[in-house]
Amino acid sequence: MKTLICNALIVSMNEQNDVIEKGSIVIDGNRLTYVGPSAWTPKGPFDRTIAADRMIALPGLINSHCHSPANLVRGMLASRPLEIWRAYYRAALRDMRDEDFYASALLGGLEMLKCGATTVLDHFFGNQAYRFMGAGAAIQAMRDLGLRHVVSLTLSDRNYEETIPLGETASNLNDEIKSMSQSETKATKAWLEDCEAFIDAFHAPDELTTPCPGPSAVQRCTDELLTGAAAIARNRKVPLHIHLAETKAQQIMGRQLYGHSLLQHLDSLGILGANLSLAHSIWIEAEDVEFLAKSGATAVHNPASNLRLGSGLAPVRQFLSAGVPVALGTDGAASNDGQNMFDAIRLVALIHNQAGSDFNQWVMLTEALAMATRNGACAFGLDAGVLAPGKLGRSRRSMT
Ligand SMILES: [Zn+2]
Repeated sequence: MKTLICNALIVSMNEQNDVIEKGSIVIDGNRLTYVGPSAWTPKGPFDRTIAADRMIALPGLINSHCHSPANLVRGMLASRPLEIWRAYYRAALRDMRDEDFYASALLGGLEMLKCGATTVLDHFFGNQAYRFMGAGAAIQAMRDLGLRHVVSLTLSDRNYEETIPLGETASNLNDEIKSMSQSETKATKAWLEDCEAFIDAFHAPDELTTPCPGPSAVQRCTDELLTGAAAIARNRKVPLHIHLAETKAQQIMGRQLYGHSLLQHLDSLGILGANLSLAHSIWIEAEDVEFLAKSGATAVHNPASNLRLGSGLAPVRQFLSAGVPVALGTDGAASNDGQNMFDAIRLVALIHNQAGSDFNQWVMLTEALAMATRNGACAFGLDAGVLAPGKLGRSRRSMT
């Protein structure tokens, strides 16, 4: 199928941020074959022509971090610091079944598509009573929608109480902490086998699915699990995704567990690299920013969730100045109350404009748009995020 979109204002999001005022796009199969001035449009015939006068054409947005099971508890959890909020969220997951994971992914996916996102990274943790915690049902929902998805299976083999600085725990919390640990953790070897089986079962980029390992967070995994997950990602040539330094408590745990920062620990294990994306990356030591830039790993900024849970403000300007690639996400709907990527773009372009800072250092709109497009594609090795010949244009499934 060959489609022509003509006379649009094209915001290409290529490296030069080229804008074509009256441009055309030709899509042949699932690739773009022409992006340029309407006057030079290649000759047809076309199966479909879209007259896009007075419309803007942007690359499909890329939501680089979310949790699809959270859509069913959207708006239901009060704003609390992550360590408290998470107990309520994880309790909700324990009652969910395969059909709930399907419905939840469908709801979030519909909102993303409606708001311009065509690709999502789903850092999936569901219910351990189900195969792959229910991730297969979420994948089916996203395939049914025609939404491209990278699904990173969340792995964690450390008991919850070892991962946060609890101090003297009130005895009435012990039961809940114990059930959290039981529902979240599993033996290292079992997780790694599961992860391999998960990739075997679902790896099908042509069907829009890229499964990959997603260690929950540095401090929630043993070194064996972290290095095992990184080896799987390397051998399978798939992305590796992890939460990093989302809260001050996590920064403190890093120092307690390893004697240095969480990021330095990842480096000491040889895990930092261009296939790695780090959700949040808020509590980063100033001296770590340069070497994060050299590693080629991507920081994934989630402004709405960070504000909702009072996690802190990621050092986005320092990242951009040092050359750290920054992508953008909504995070789950339980800490955002939506999956709208334009909302994330708006927030990132606003919240870093702080009084007393040099306005030349504020986040520019083109930078915010790059985070939501080409930077996300780069983080996950996808040939997308830019309107240019040869790039992915639309999914095969959405054409049928
Ligand atoms: Zn998250």
